[in-house]
Amino acid sequence: MITGETRLWKLTRKQVREHMRDGHFKGAILPTGSTEQHNEHLAMEHDTASALHVSHQVSLALYPSVLVATPMPVGISEHWMEWRGTLSLRPDTFTAVAFDTCESLQRHGVEHVLIVNGHAGNGPLGQHMDDFSQKLGIDVQFCSYWQAYSREYVEEHMESGDCPAHAAEFETSVALAAFPENVHWQGVDYDSESFDIQSEGYRERDPVYHRAARDLATPHKGRVMVDTAVEWVADKMSEMMGSTSS
Ligand SMILES: [Zn+2]
Repeated sequence: MITGETRLWKLTRKQVREHMRDGHFKGAILPTGSTEQHNEHLAMEHDTASALHVSHQVSLALYPSVLVATPMPVGISEHWMEWRGTLSLRPDTFTAVAFDTCESLQRHGVEHVLIVNGHAGNGPLGQHMDDFSQKLGIDVQFCSYWQAYSREYVEEHMESGDCPAHAAEFETSVALAAFPENVHWQGVDYDSESFDIQSEGYRERDPVYHRAARDLATPHKGRVMVDTAVEWVADKMSEMMGSTSS
């Protein structure tokens, strides 16, 4: 029985088989994220959860053309290893896992794979898309979902004018809109903590991001940002698949 489910890991083999038989799921989205520190208040899974949220909404908007593959929950996060809890893959490992996942999809008949990324550190994966496409003989592309926003758009919708930043106004707003259970302000008192931040580039920014999250993030902003990202990614996916969603 065909259902409205588009998330691969929620489907049975029978359901996947029947979808493919009926010509569905010619396209797939592979969400990539991270498991890494997101300041004092936001869950480690944020980048994975946000990439998945956008990807899932896109697949529903384009139903039944697009499958969402199981997200990659660990990314390239060496730069956050000083914060306990962060997990990191070496860039080559990360690229290899992404490739093997795309190859699995290709072997099942998927013709277009869009990697929808939620963690800036995974950006280098984008350089491998020609190689992936060539080796697999299908169309594989990469984007980070915040590429949906122009400079002007960010200035209009983010009071900090900063996006994606890190665990700041943007990401916290997205979490408040899409999965508020990941935001934990209770017991957080940043200013009474003393951190010995090793990363020079981040030492100054950690408190700035924290205050932006605390003082500026709202569910409404998150909803606006998510909706725009969903529309943009859906257009990109539709374009890959040779039609338009709007
Ligand atoms: Zn993040």
